[in-house]
Amino acid sequence: MRAEFLPFSRPSITEEDISAVGDVLRSGWITTGPNVAEFERAFCEYVGCKRAVALSSATAGMHIVLKGLGVGPGDDVITPSMTWVSTINLIVLAGATPVFVDIDKDTLMISPDSVEGSLSPRTRLIVPVHFAGAAADMVSLRSIADRIEIPLVEDAAHALGTHYSGAHVGKEGTSIFSFHPIKNITTGEGGMFCSDNDDLTDHINRLKFHGLGVDAYDRQTHGRSPQAEVLEPGYKYNMTDMAAVLGLRQLARVDEFNRKRAALAIRYRELLSEIDEILPLSVPPDTTRHAWHLFIVRLDTDRAGLSRDDFMAGLKQRNIGTGLHFRAGHLQKYYRESMDMRRGMLPNTEWNSDRICSLPLFPDMTFEDVDDVVDAIKEVLTN
Ligand SMILES: *Cc1c(COP(=O)(O)O)cnc(C)c1O
Repeated sequence: MRAEFLPFSRPSITEEDISAVGDVLRSGWITTGPNVAEFERAFCEYVGCKRAVALSSATAGMHIVLKGLGVGPGDDVITPSMTWVSTINLIVLAGATPVFVDIDKDTLMISPDSVEGSLSPRTRLIVPVHFAGAAADMVSLRSIADRIEIPLVEDAAHALGTHYSGAHVGKEGTSIFSFHPIKNITTGEGGMFCSDNDDLTDHINRLKFHGLGVDAYDRQTHGRSPQAEVLEPGYKYNMTDMAAVLGLRQLARVDEFNRKRAALAIRYRELLSEIDEILPLSVPPDTTRHAWHLFIVRLDTDRAGLSRDDFMAGLKQRNIGTGLHFRAGHLQKYYRESMDMRRGMLPNTEWNSDRICSLPLFPDMTFEDVDDVVDAIKEVLTN
């Protein structure tokens, strides 16, 4: 057994990263300023998107994009239940109704067919989630949104570095990335709104900072001129320069990070292919580059004679950390009770919610760590 605990995720932070943040702290300007402007520019260049707005989190981005699109009471928003709770929460907080659609059993992403089946005259927005570093079927989903003339916002929290049919996720349309510490790059906490829609981006730029009008960059104040006035009440979701300098340095390494993630994933897939109780996800063919945000497996609980929770506990006893991405949203207390959600409504989501488990995967992990995880899995399954 391993002597040291292997966490399921750990950010890769260098001494140079720490000094760069220290330099910002010493500079006299620590909130939104030149590093944020540079991070937004570099992000546009990397993703290929037209505009980018750095934010305090992806959840903040979801909040103000719903506000910016005018989504509210009487509106339905189509989203998977197999996602992080923030999307669902923000839809409810906006006064709209989340309409959960089932996912593909093996990619964990919403299928265009189930979206078609959930459309109604109240449908105002579709929020697909790119899962684990693979890409959702955007051609089909976009054609549905275009046909009924509603917007589409991509949850790209897992998809920094993901290519869909040769193009970076985020290049087209509107998407939101996350820089929470487990994501492919981190700023501590943070997010990025990307869009090819200038009006929406200008609106997001206002909403993220008190609703103040956008002025030309002002050198003295490192932002809007002090004369800027409120055009509508806004929020306080700007990113700090301390975070942005870390983001810039992380972004410069994201391809290196993702290559390492991919190499570790290949080794996992090889070694796990011999274990019948472990079912990896499948990769959609139009994911031309996988960001390997998470290495998710499903435990065949019948064959293993073991619940997923006991499986995770067994690994923990052997010093292997795991994650759970995600517990189905519709079966959590608030949604069960307030929306009368029951088991049986979303079969593929529920089947996966009971069986998924994220194995350790992060750039500073070694191949020996992967071997330790697989050995521990074999032990847990034979005991
Ligand atoms: C992490 C995550 C978010 C939220 O990101 P934050 O930056 O923590 O707000 C949203 N959606 C998915 C799918 C995520 O994994």
